[in-house]
Amino acid sequence: SEKLAEAEKAKKPTYSFEFFPPKTAQGVQNLYDRMDRMHGMGPSFIDVTWGAGGRHAHLTCEMVKVAQSAYGLETCMHLTCTDMEKSKIDDALKEAYNAGCTNILALRGDPPREKEKWQATAGGFRYAKDLIEYIKEQYGNHFDIGVAGYPEGCDDNKDRPQLMEHLKEKIDAGGTFIVTQMFYDAENFIDWYHQVRDAGIDVPIVPGIMPIQTHAAFLRRAQWMNCKIPEDWTKALEPVKNDDSAVREIGKGLVAELCRKLLAVGVIHLHFYTMNLAQATRMVLEELNLLPDVQSPLEKPLPWRQSLGLN
Ligand code: FAD
Repeated sequence: SEKLAEAEKAKKPTYSFEFFPPKTAQGVQNLYDRMDRMHGMGPSFIDVTWGAGGRHAHLTCEMVKVAQSAYGLETCMHLTCTDMEKSKIDDALKEAYNAGCTNILALRGDPPREKEKWQATAGGFRYAKDLIEYIKEQYGNHFDIGVAGYPEGCDDNKDRPQLMEHLKEKIDAGGTFIVTQMFYDAENFIDWYHQVRDAGIDVPIVPGIMPIQTHAAFLRRAQWMNCKIPEDWTKALEPVKNDDSAVREIGKGLVAELCRKLLAVGVIHLHFYTMNLAQATRMVLEELNLLPDVQSPLEKPLPWRQSLGLN
């Protein structure tokens, strides 16, 4: 087992990219072009998000199909319970299955735009856990099922022990890996990471990393997610806030340092919220020296389970 542990340590970390369905046809075409190029950056899989209430649902399914079959990229489809009666969930799962997709990130979902509070749809599911149970019931072990984790608490629940209990329930229901909400506070994540392990949860924990594109976007996203910004980050970025390229350059260093701290505690896979853009993610991966020497499309992407150390 010592040898295995050594091998695990020596292994190069892997990474994945998250995309969301664009609003316009031109946006979709641009994204496909970009996905093609980003394929060469060597992600072991990509995620496609699910619009609250199933808006753009057909697009999520189509993007999964294109990525999976045309680009040969292993894909993880997000699926939420918001405004989704069972028949819509059935359709989405069937489409993912038929496209050859074997990974679902099972979520409760955000409330629909016009509503403040989340409400279950009649004939739908209340919690992510219920969706996980349903996927297992319908598809057995076909899908690897990811779940959301919140190192800094989530919008409608800041009670850490309770959130941990609910996280454990999702894993007990069949979740096989955890992807976290974005964060910049490494120490808080590390603390939470150990609490997850202490709670007896032993599945891979994948931190969600938001690279820095511009100062305004950095602040806006952190605010949306109620994500704490460390003081030294503010000190480093504030003086150059009007110079996008300086923000990206300094941001790259800060985010890479964050990633190094996470890898040092045993994280083996980094998930990048690309916001459908390549540059800032590429810069962080370059800084971490993780990009492949030749950035051509991989003929055989690393299987999903293997990249998370599940095999
Ligand atoms: P759950 O785990 O079901 O928790 C929801 C709430 O219910 C929490 O407050 C929890 O504490 C509580 N709860 C859970 N179980 C119980 C129980 N048994 N009894 C009482 N209370 C309970 N949203 C989208 O719309 N589309 C996406 O593509 C998307 N992708 C995401 C990706 C990641 C990595 C993350 C972290 C979030 C994503 N979200 C997405 C946002 C997510 O849908 C919201 O944060 C949502 O509010 C919570 O989803 P969940 O799956 O964590 O819910």
